Amino acid sequence: MEIFEYAPAPESRAIVSIRPSYDLFIDGEFVAAESDRRIVSVNPADEEPLSEVAAAGDADVDRAFAAARRAFERVWSPLPGAERGKYLFRIARIIQERARELAVLESLDNGKPIKETRDVDLPLVAQHFFYYAGWADKLAHTGLGTRPLGVAAQVIPWNFPLLMLAWKVAPALAAGNTVVLKPAETTPLTALAFAEICQEAGLPPGVVNIVTGAGDTGRAVVSHPEADKVAFTGSTEVGRQIARAVAGTRKRLTLELGGKGANIVYDDAAVDQAVEGIVSGIFFNQGHVCCAGSRLLVQESIAEELLPRLRARIELLRLGDPLDKNTDIGAINSAAQLARIRELAAAGEAEGATGWSPACPLPERGYWFRPTVFTGVTQAHRIAREEIFGPVLSVLTFRTPEEAVAKANNTPYGLSAGVWTEKGSLMLWTASRLRAGVVWSNTFNVFDPASPFGGYKESGYGREGGLLGLEAYLG
Ligand code: NAD
Ligand code: MN
Repeated sequence: MEIFEYAPAPESRAIVSIRPSYDLFIDGEFVAAESDRRIVSVNPADEEPLSEVAAAGDADVDRAFAAARRAFERVWSPLPGAERGKYLFRIARIIQERARELAVLESLDNGKPIKETRDVDLPLVAQHFFYYAGWADKLAHTGLGTRPLGVAAQVIPWNFPLLMLAWKVAPALAAGNTVVLKPAETTPLTALAFAEICQEAGLPPGVVNIVTGAGDTGRAVVSHPEADKVAFTGSTEVGRQIARAVAGTRKRLTLELGGKGANIVYDDAAVDQAVEGIVSGIFFNQGHVCCAGSRLLVQESIAEELLPRLRARIELLRLGDPLDKNTDIGAINSAAQLARIRELAAAGEAEGATGWSPACPLPERGYWFRPTVFTGVTQAHRIAREEIFGPVLSVLTFRTPEEAVAKANNTPYGLSAGVWTEKGSLMLWTASRLRAGVVWSNTFNVFDPASPFGGYKESGYGREGGLLGLEAYLG
């Protein structure tokens, strides 16, 4: 296989100015935390410290909720929907204007390729604000009522930092709620840039409050007595703890948790297209995707044809500098996540599956993992059951559509699936039997703000996006 040589094409980071240290964003201003604990956020591609943020303590979280409550009662919920919409439109436009800067910042703090932050994350972030801005004055037509819940406590993960913020903040604000949001400890910087955007948009103080910190700050946010609604995206384990903490309170809860999505390829599928979908399904964002197609279910009769083509395609993926415009696979977000991926990949080998990776060189510094494909995987293997949340694909085979559906559904999760066939009847037959919140047909990882997203079973409950996404913020 001929490997193409490219000259490096790095995006300039000069467009981004990162402060050495950030305070909390409460009541419209950056304010020093009472807690003196700090967290350093690094660039996972070279382990360079980027900035230091406050780790908010209980008193800081109290302050954020007090500001959010005041803003809810005095300013935001009394405001006519059309006026709220204007602020959201303004935020969406500022995001578009600053898109390049935000894309570079996201790539620096998270490690994901600039190609993705520029072409996927940022366009979707703006689209979410535009979409929900449009609903703000039309709540009466939704059939969901017009009453906001109050103050929303929102905790988000590190895999799509600004996009998860948009998924949470845009519908909450459109419906008239105010928010206290905690970004993930390894990726707080775009949320803090968003705080600046709220200031730039003239958003009334207290409508959006951003408290940085790790798990204990998250716990303080979701268990705060002033929270009327809790929205969480992250691991199933933490989701369970939150469900327990919220049980028996008046708080409304939505959880968007893990997944172990199946990508089902039937023998009549367009193979090259399916290969593209399999690659984007598992290697998009280094596989740090809750709806990743991490289990490939390929019909036995075409496995021998498909797998060599898949490997040939993977050999062309370029791994390296996230800011390089040619990069397909960036850095693993943190040392902890890298350790988790390594542990599960080692378990795959130990249980008898066969791992394969292209011989691509890895940078010397930073957190990296080669794209990896495991064959000889059975349903009992840990790599077939557990969410790896990394660039690791497990390949299983099936003979009949019934077997494909049974294997796809044989998981405690139920977030996503992909189906590849040229036959419409087989597509519908399969899709209607899959217990997954999203089923993609001859494509994968396609998102639209108008389309609700969420899971079955241990993937969580509630939907984000679309009209259903508003339901979670109206009472
Ligand atoms: P996590 O669930 O621990 O972290 C997600 C967010 O929750 C972060 O902001 C974190 O600070 C916060 N948090 C942690 N403990 C909390 C608590 N007790 N109460 C409230 N908030 C808390 O996820 P992680 O440790 O970063 O990743 C672990 C695994 O979770 C990954 O390997 C992956 O399998 C999965 N994961 C899934 C998603 C997803 O989108 N579904 C996102 C991130 C991680
Ligand atoms: Mn970081």
